[in-house]
Amino acid sequence: MSDFIIVGAGAIGMLTALALRQRGYAVTLIDRQQAGRESSWAGGGILSPLYPWRYADSVTALAQRSQQLYPALVAALTDATGIDPEHVPSGLLMLDGAGEDDPLAWGRRTGVDIQSVDAAMVASIQPGLAGMDAPAWWMPEMAQIRNPRLLRALRAAMDVHGVEVVEGAAVERLEVAHGRVEGVRLAGKRLASDAVILAAGAWSAGLLGDSFAPPRIEPVRGQMLILNAPGSGIERIVMRAGRYLIPRLGGRILVGSTVELAGFEKRTTAEARDELHQFAIELAPALAHASIEHHWAGLRPGVPAGVPYIGAHPGIEGLFLHAGHFRNGLVMGPASTELLVQLIEGETPRLDAAPYAFDAPRPGGLR
Ligand SMILES: Cc1cc2nc3c(=O)[nH]c(=O)nc-3n(C[C@H](O)[C@H](O)[C@H](O)COP(=O)(O)OP(=O)(O)OC[C@H]3O[C@@H](n4cnc5c(N)ncnc54)[C@H](O)[C@@H]3O)c2cc1C
Repeated sequence: MSDFIIVGAGAIGMLTALALRQRGYAVTLIDRQQAGRESSWAGGGILSPLYPWRYADSVTALAQRSQQLYPALVAALTDATGIDPEHVPSGLLMLDGAGEDDPLAWGRRTGVDIQSVDAAMVASIQPGLAGMDAPAWWMPEMAQIRNPRLLRALRAAMDVHGVEVVEGAAVERLEVAHGRVEGVRLAGKRLASDAVILAAGAWSAGLLGDSFAPPRIEPVRGQMLILNAPGSGIERIVMRAGRYLIPRLGGRILVGSTVELAGFEKRTTAEARDELHQFAIELAPALAHASIEHHWAGLRPGVPAGVPYIGAHPGIEGLFLHAGHFRNGLVMGPASTELLVQLIEGETPRLDAAPYAFDAPRPGGLR
């Protein structure tokens, strides 16, 4: 019998499995399909919240801690698996978004390097942009991760470190008796464990069902494009009006992303494709000749205020939640994993765990 069953092998489930295995636990990780094919694959891999000053301090705290953890995580994964997740310090340039807020005051308070830049500075940071509205905001230290490669590296690390991975098998329900988790039901059979971690992204609330007070997690669709654009000159992550360009090594540019409430409907739409394509060309006219290589959609695990659930379920002994990372699962993942493992081990956590508790207030809407 495993010490832990983890339901869901996205970035969050695999990071959790790896961390627990490295602490010596026997871990079984289950996904209903191939590992790493849902939101964690669909995402952009920007390792910062977008317009980060708009977020709660609890989101900033996880992002900042992850930003510290990423270089060593990437080095260890590359070393163990031979797959480099391409952690690239592209910087993040936001051409709008301050509104009533004061990003510089936020930067001073949190210690994040954020600078106000004028049009001439924007042109030197990232030449070739059109129609910029001053002031813009520049975060030179922000990086990106190539998330499909991160997932491949994590999946390979499961084998290297001895995590048991069950793919292509949906967990039908949790097995709970007398207020304790006893395992999960898988293909009609019980798989027993005294500890279960729910890391099923947008599908997490459904697995708890109404009887166990489900967390407030709901799917929020995001559509993205990838352009084949060698020689475009785009080398920074650039944002305007909630949309962004992410330059990958090798000349491809990701264009994202929509934020849509469409239930569990993961299809793409022609409207979104045209709108994202138009955005890219208006922002960087050199992209007019780039071809669209691929267009896809993913379902983010949306939660109010973007604050994930990390920790024990209050009503079911042995059940832990690690879900609801919404728009920032790739950036928050390493730190939220560290926090969950510290809570499981009974250690004093490095970050205050209260904001991520099951019944903590999460004021505000989906963001
Ligand atoms: C378009 C888009 C852009 C994004 N951009 C960024 C970004 O730039 N930076 C960032 O930090 N984040 C970004 N995100 C958000 C990020 O991708 C998510 O927060 C993160 O991937 C959530 O990870 P997860 O492991 O919880 O969920 P998922 O990756 O969705 O994994 C959940 C897993 O659970 C499995 N599962 C579900 N039900 C069951 C079941 N019954 N039994 C077994 N397995 C089950 C699924 O198959 C899936 O593999 C973006 C997301 C999207 C869609």
